[in-house]
Amino acid sequence: MPSVPTKLAERRRSRQIQVGTVAVGGDAPVSVQSMTTTRTADIGATLQQIAELTASGCQIVRVACPTQDDADALATIARKSQIPVIADIHFQPKYVFAAIDAGCAAVRVNPGNIKQFDDKVKEIAGAAAASGTPIRIGVNAGSLDARLLKKYGKATPEALVESALWECSLFEEHGFRDIKISVKHNDPVIMVNAYRQLAAQCDYPLHLGVTEAGPAFQGTIKSAVAFGALLSEGIGDTIRVSLSAPPAEEVKVGTQILESLNLKQRRLEIVSCPSCGRAQVDVYKLAEEVTAGLDGMEVPLRVAVMGCVVNGPGEAREADLGVASGNGKGQIFVKGEVIKTVPESKIVETLIDEAMKIAEQMERDGVASGEPEVSVS
Ligand code: SF4
Repeated sequence: MPSVPTKLAERRRSRQIQVGTVAVGGDAPVSVQSMTTTRTADIGATLQQIAELTASGCQIVRVACPTQDDADALATIARKSQIPVIADIHFQPKYVFAAIDAGCAAVRVNPGNIKQFDDKVKEIAGAAAASGTPIRIGVNAGSLDARLLKKYGKATPEALVESALWECSLFEEHGFRDIKISVKHNDPVIMVNAYRQLAAQCDYPLHLGVTEAGPAFQGTIKSAVAFGALLSEGIGDTIRVSLSAPPAEEVKVGTQILESLNLKQRRLEIVSCPSCGRAQVDVYKLAEEVTAGLDGMEVPLRVAVMGCVVNGPGEAREADLGVASGNGKGQIFVKGEVIKTVPESKIVETLIDEAMKIAEQMERDGVASGEPEVSVS
């Protein structure tokens, strides 16, 4: 049988940086980030949200630092967080130094809105190099450097890229290359073009983001389309989905995007049919109940929930576990074999029981969730 490639492209070869315990770029798996929505100065609430994000699979978290009270909270948050903390700095260069002193795993700077940022680069590069703190140069369409806005008239891909590479060159003048870059725009077409250009012009690791992507549904689509386009070309080393929704939702979406592209070990996957006039069971209800019953499962289990016998047996056979329904009954398949036929009322509990057995076996066999191997071009 011909083998099917598991990846759409080799990863772009980027230099690797270390964001606390998480490597970004090079052969490191693409990581998922999010950002807290609490006031950073409220240490308890911020740490609580970071704990929730960590539980949802977030690997790196960013916190805003707009005031001195926020800056003062960074050291405790960085020390107590289970995942690396990046301080997000706009407007005030003094907070860059505060974040480095606080032991943050990295600092994000926005060169478009930090006052006299270019004059401070030497000092920032010195402090960051001395402490081993990477810098993310985070260019954003909404706060593009005034000089480039004048030159290009608006935030074009070229303007975003020129802004990012200009700032990099200032750091490079001082021998500092511990950098990752983002060039975010709310339009996925502009964003994808900007990252493509950036990827061709440097070897820095890239943080992907569609900025201000919108409410959960629209933001999920925009991010999936844009990240999918770039990741399928091997571009992107860490991702942040921006949603007007709780940050744990961003992590769920980001993780699912990576799993869909085989850039992260898949976990539970429900293959369910959309239903149609041939369906002989309520497929939506069945799929929802099975999904809810298996929530939190960490092993890469594929469960097929099919409404009738047209595609049911075929899909159910391809999955680890499946059901093909018809005539008030469900044929239960395990690894391609029909193991039993149960009445419709017993389909959900039978699938959950069988899933648990397979999951236990997978865990015994060491087929647990982990990071897939990454090859770089
Ligand atoms: S599996 Fe059957 S019910 Fe489901 S979409 Fe296909 S034909 Fe329709």
